[in-house]
Amino acid sequence: MTIALAAPDVPHWPLYVFAAFAGASLTSFACLAADRLPHQLGWRPEPQPDLTLCHPPSRCDACAVRIGWPYLIPVVGYLLARGRCAHCGARVPPAYPLLEALGGGGACAALAYFGFAWTGISAALLWLVLLFLAWIDWREQWLPAVVTQPLFWLGLLSSPFSADAMDRIQGAFGGCVLMWLAMKVVGFARRADLVAGGDIALAAAAGAWLGLTALPLFLLVASLGFLAYAWPLRRRGRLFVPMGPALALGWIAAQWALPAWRAVLQGGWTW
Ligand SMILES: [Zn+2]
Repeated sequence: MTIALAAPDVPHWPLYVFAAFAGASLTSFACLAADRLPHQLGWRPEPQPDLTLCHPPSRCDACAVRIGWPYLIPVVGYLLARGRCAHCGARVPPAYPLLEALGGGGACAALAYFGFAWTGISAALLWLVLLFLAWIDWREQWLPAVVTQPLFWLGLLSSPFSADAMDRIQGAFGGCVLMWLAMKVVGFARRADLVAGGDIALAAAAGAWLGLTALPLFLLVASLGFLAYAWPLRRRGRLFVPMGPALALGWIAAQWALPAWRAVLQGGWTW
């Protein structure tokens, strides 16, 4: 299926500007969702029931005063306010503008790499969803099923990264089983129940979107990524280290390397 956003002779820069703004704005909303979803869905031990995705409008964490619209513009708002609340002067975490820049930049990079068509749009949207999942898991040790499960089913139904339905089904099954097994083995060695449904759902979703062919690449990068940040954190005495950021990293790496990986396996692959 080919849905082209722009003919080759039309300048692409307006689309890049749009993708950067949309990506950063959606990431800004994702940061708010990472803040409020654990309350709305009762994940927190003491949820605040009045905090939902739609209400109240964005407000300062310190003084609860509503944030004025110029300061809501992604990245620019942070720079305008010099990283502080315009009302009370409390510091705004620099992670927010950084994530917004990553969201906008990654969406543009996905379009540039995968093209201005369905594959590129999917890659940009997946980048934003994975950025959200990595962030919420890092903050809350939680991969919400309201996101991972639809993500899994969508990939299983159709994916521009693996046209073969059987490859996607086997990928989903492989991701699910291997993640469950890995958790069982590590849990047995450490005498703890480490099986986490969110991580299994995310690994299955990666397998569904990318197919069995990409699974070794996904698992390799995810494992190495996890070791890279889990090992120093464990040494500092942290008991539970979230796996979501590593799984998201493995997914992105495998997805971006997939054309080259297929060429290595069978030669001459093009999208
Ligand atoms: Zn304030």
